[in-house]
Amino acid sequence: MNATVIIIGGGLVGAHLARVLGLRGYAVKVYEKRPDMRKASIAAGRSINLALSDRGWKALDAAGTGQRVRQAAIPMRGRMIHPIDGELRFQPYGLEGQAIYSVSRGGLNRLLLDAAEELPNVELFFQWRCVDVDLDRPAAVLENVQTGERQTVAGDYLVGADGAFSAVRYRMQRLDRFQYSQHYIEHGYKELTIPAAEGGGWRIEPNALHIWPRHQFMLIALPNQDGSFTCTLFLPFEGSPSFEELSTPQEVRRFFEEQFPDAVPLMPTLEEDFFRNPTSSLAIIRCYPWTYGGKVMLIGDAAHAIVPFYGQGVNAGFEDCRIFAELLEQYQDDWATVLPIYQQMRKPNADAIADLAMRNFVEMRDHVADPRFLLRKAIERRLTQEFPHRFLPVYSMVTFSPDLPYRMALEEQQKQDRMFEEILQLPDVEHTWQTPAGWEKILAIFDRYYCGSEALSGAPNA
Ligand SMILES: Cc1cc2nc3c(=O)[nH]c(=O)nc-3n(C[C@H](O)[C@H](O)[C@H](O)COP(=O)(O)OP(=O)(O)OC[C@H]3O[C@@H](n4cnc5c(N)ncnc54)[C@H](O)[C@@H]3O)c2cc1C
Repeated sequence: MNATVIIIGGGLVGAHLARVLGLRGYAVKVYEKRPDMRKASIAAGRSINLALSDRGWKALDAAGTGQRVRQAAIPMRGRMIHPIDGELRFQPYGLEGQAIYSVSRGGLNRLLLDAAEELPNVELFFQWRCVDVDLDRPAAVLENVQTGERQTVAGDYLVGADGAFSAVRYRMQRLDRFQYSQHYIEHGYKELTIPAAEGGGWRIEPNALHIWPRHQFMLIALPNQDGSFTCTLFLPFEGSPSFEELSTPQEVRRFFEEQFPDAVPLMPTLEEDFFRNPTSSLAIIRCYPWTYGGKVMLIGDAAHAIVPFYGQGVNAGFEDCRIFAELLEQYQDDWATVLPIYQQMRKPNADAIADLAMRNFVEMRDHVADPRFLLRKAIERRLTQEFPHRFLPVYSMVTFSPDLPYRMALEEQQKQDRMFEEILQLPDVEHTWQTPAGWEKILAIFDRYYCGSEALSGAPNA
C-alpha cells in the first residue's frame, strides 16, 4: 500500500497507531513536538506510571508489542486500603490471577516508539509542533520548536493523536456544528514519591494499588520497577482542605501527619517533592464528530480525555486503535467508509467510560472504606463465583474484559446499583448474608434482575 498517513503526536496512542498502520503497509510519518525521549532525559509529561488492563493488553498484543511491555509491568492484584488508624485492608480487584499492571509511562512510550520505528515504512520526526491543519487537503503546518522553521506536510490521511489539547481538533472546532465541551473538575493532582528501601526493594506491598481514601480527597501509590512508588495526591484546588491551604512546608507536613500518618515515614522528601512538582488540573473533554471528509480523524485523548480514576484513558486510546485497524481490515482500507463507522462505534463508549471514571473517583475516595461498600463487594464476589455465566461486577467488565463495550458496562452499572440497593435494604443483611436463609433472600432478588441472563463478557467490539 502506498498511501501516506500523517500522525500528529508521538505520545502513547500516536506511537502505537504508527506501528498499527505501519504493519498494514501505510507510509507513516509521525510529528511530535517534544524531543525524542529515547535520547533526551525528559519526563513523559504527566504521571510517571499508569495502570494497564485487559483492553490495553489486547490492543498491544494485536500489534505484537504486548510481550515486550509485560516484561516491565508490575501486577497489582487489588487495592490496599490505608485507613487513618487501624489495619491495612486488601480488596482483590477480581478473581484469582486477575490484576491490573503498573507500567512506566516514559518506558512504555519509548518502547512503542522503538516498535513503530523498527518498521521501514514508519518515520518519526521530533520537535515539530503542529500549528495548523488544512483539513480538506489534508495537510499539517509544522513549526520546528528549535529553529522556528515552518513547513507544510501533506498526506492521503491525517490523524490527530495530539492529546487533550489537540491542534488538529482545534482546527475542527472551527467547523460549523462541531460539538465540544471541556469540564475541569474541582480537584487537582500532585505527584510525590516513596523511594525504594535502603538496599533496594519496595517499602510497602508492591502487588497492590495503595489508596488512602479520605472522602473529599485521597492519596494513591503505584509501584515502579526500581522499588519506588509514585504517589498522587488528589485534592480540591480551593476550600478546606485544599491545595490553596498548603502553602508552607509546615502546613504540608501537618496535613500529611494528620491524614496519612503511615505514609509520612515512607516519604523522606515529602516537602521537597510537594513544592517542586506542579499541581495539575484534570479535565473531561468530549467532542463530535471525530472525523472529517473521510481523510482526517481524532484518536485517544484528542477525541476523549477523561479523568484518571478508572485507569482507562490509555486503555481506551489503544482500543480505539485496535478497532480502527479491524475496521480497515473489514472494509479493505476504505477510509471513507470506515471513519463514520469508527466514530459511531467509539463515541458512545468514550462517553460511557468518561461517566464511569468520574463515578469511580467517588468510589475510591469515599466508598472503599465504607462497610456497606465492602459488604456489596463481598456479595458481588460470591455471585461471580456461583454464577460466572450470569453475573460479572462492573469493575471486571471495564478492567478484565478485553473487548466488552464500555457503554454496556455503564448500563450494567445502573442495573447493579438498583439490585444492590434492594439487597442492602434486607433486614440485618450484614449478619445474615452468609447463612443459607439469608443467601436465599439475596438470590430471590438476584433472580429478578438476572433471570436467564447470559455472560456479558464475550460481547465483541461494538
Ligand atoms: C494523573 C493521570 C494518571 C493517569 N493514569 C492512567 C492510568 O493509570 N491508566 C490509563 O489507561 N490512563 C491513565 N491516564 C490517562 C492517559 O495518560 C491518557 O489517556 C494517555 O496519555 C492518552 O494518550 P494520547 O497519546 O492520546 O495523548 P498524550 O499522552 O497526551 O500524547 C499526546 C502527544 O502529542 C504531542 N503533541 C501535543 N500537541 C502537539 C502538537 N501541536 N504538535 C505535535 N505534537 C503534539 C504531545 O507532546 C504528546 O507526546 C492518566 C492521566 C493522568 C493525567
